[in-house]
Amino acid sequence: MTQDLRPADHVVDGPDPDLAADVAASLRAIPDFPEPGVVFKDFTPLLLDPALRDRVVADVVRRRAGSADVVIGIEARGFILGSVIAHELGAGFVPVRKQGKLPAQTHSVSYDLEYGTATIEVHTDALRPGQRVLVVDDVLATGGTAAAAVELVRRCDAEVVGVEVVLELGFLHGRQRLGGTDVHALLVD
Ligand code: AMP
Repeated sequence: MTQDLRPADHVVDGPDPDLAADVAASLRAIPDFPEPGVVFKDFTPLLLDPALRDRVVADVVRRRAGSADVVIGIEARGFILGSVIAHELGAGFVPVRKQGKLPAQTHSVSYDLEYGTATIEVHTDALRPGQRVLVVDDVLATGGTAAAAVELVRRCDAEVVGVEVVLELGFLHGRQRLGGTDVHALLVD
């Protein structure tokens, strides 16, 4: 039996000028979640729309094709787009998880939250020295999580080639915590 391997009609091969507006229209803002004063940007409606999801992935792949050996997805929403992007790039996928979730030996990095600290981890053998790593998450807010993920990659002697997020909350200036890292956001709020 022959398989039809042509890309689906909805996958855009060239630049996709309407993508940011279409994604902006799909994101749902939930006020006061998970705590008063925070407006949570929910991207589950984007995941429900296969054509839009594929356009988001195709946009990242156009920018990053050939540049990454491994994609890191940050728990939990970074796992979803990150694993699809890894598949399309032909790259490996590595989960970065909250403390205590990974079963084997880990590197850990802690960072400050508004109240308290958080810790994320990666398996010590997940990345080989010199591997080129793309970090993926849904939202860049204060930048603490992404900066900690970048530090985890460095602890493995691997190299971060970039950070990809769907949405950057620009008023929180998270990008500043990422120094010279190539950060790309599809949308900036
Ligand atoms: P930060 O470390 O402050 O940059 O926060 C980034 C992490 O928290 C990401 O993994 C996001 O999924 C999540 N996050 C932070 N703020 C929001 C928000 N307003 N809406 C949705 N997710 C958020």
